[in-house]
Amino acid sequence: MEVTARRVKRGWMNLKVVQIVEDTWDCKTFFMEDLEEGGRTWDYWAGQYLTIRYDDVAEKPLVRSYTMSSSPRQVANCAVTVKRVEGGLISNWMCDNIKVGTVLRARGPIGKFIYEQDKDKAHLVMVAAGSGVTPFISIMREYQDRLGQSGSPQKMTLVVSYRSRKDLILWRDIEEIARHPGCQVFVSLSRDNDAPSTFYQGRLSMDSLNGMLNSSVDFTNATFMSCGPQAIMDMAKSFAQMKGVPDSQIKTESFES
Ligand SMILES: Cc1cc2nc3c(=O)[nH]c(=O)nc-3n(C[C@H](O)[C@H](O)[C@H](O)COP(=O)(O)OP(=O)(O)OC[C@H]3O[C@@H](n4cnc5c(N)ncnc54)[C@H](O)[C@@H]3O)c2cc1C
Repeated sequence: MEVTARRVKRGWMNLKVVQIVEDTWDCKTFFMEDLEEGGRTWDYWAGQYLTIRYDDVAEKPLVRSYTMSSSPRQVANCAVTVKRVEGGLISNWMCDNIKVGTVLRARGPIGKFIYEQDKDKAHLVMVAAGSGVTPFISIMREYQDRLGQSGSPQKMTLVVSYRSRKDLILWRDIEEIARHPGCQVFVSLSRDNDAPSTFYQGRLSMDSLNGMLNSSVDFTNATFMSCGPQAIMDMAKSFAQMKGVPDSQIKTESFES
């Protein structure tokens, strides 16, 4: 399969924000439509991102990348979910200043951090922390109703780590995904000792990954994807390697440029 957008847009798009959802205390989801396409959304593969350009925030134009947290099949409008980074210029500017009606200049979709039907194995295992969950929500929403069908994985497992229950980014999507047969979700909280036992407690580790995945994953038939801080991606990679998963079946995407 060639990894290209289904409908390539050339140059910069004008994307109008049509809805804003307060996802958590430090994270918002912005739904957008393409002004030139009469409200129609643009095409993309679940897991791809946009490059957004900001001309008026600083002296010089700035660009930042944001992954679609929506899936191409799920909703009419595309969405990006932005988490405030402490001291971060654009993430805070977006959360503080963007209103319904704001027009953003964006280029894309871009990226190969997607499910590739002719290369990937039947079981997609995704390991994320914090805002690194965005590509996986897109991917899981995209394939959750088609598991086992041509062009889709057979099974999907998400392991996601947050700090506490107040940091559960895209939680409504996660709860819905977890109800789908063939989709499995493990949520780990690194700093929330009073959380109910449905959550794993403590930082993700090789041991906790083993506890979650060892009995439910056939590692000879799994593709690992990981997104989040470097330490989480390194650990997911080491874990998969320890289980004999070849490097060709391990993919990572860094959000830090
Ligand atoms: C392919 C790709 C996809 C991305 N998708 C998303 C997404 O879906 N949602 C989302 O919220 N972010 C995403 N990001 C990160 C986003 O592009 C910005 O880097 C982030 O919002 C910080 O920008 P800023 O201008 O606020 O911070 P800056 O002003 O650029 O940086 C301020 C400080 O924060 C540090 N920093 C920069 N980025 C991060 C980060 N991601 N985590 C922790 N510290 C950081 C910098 O080193 C610096 O010290 C993605 C990045 C890439 C490369």
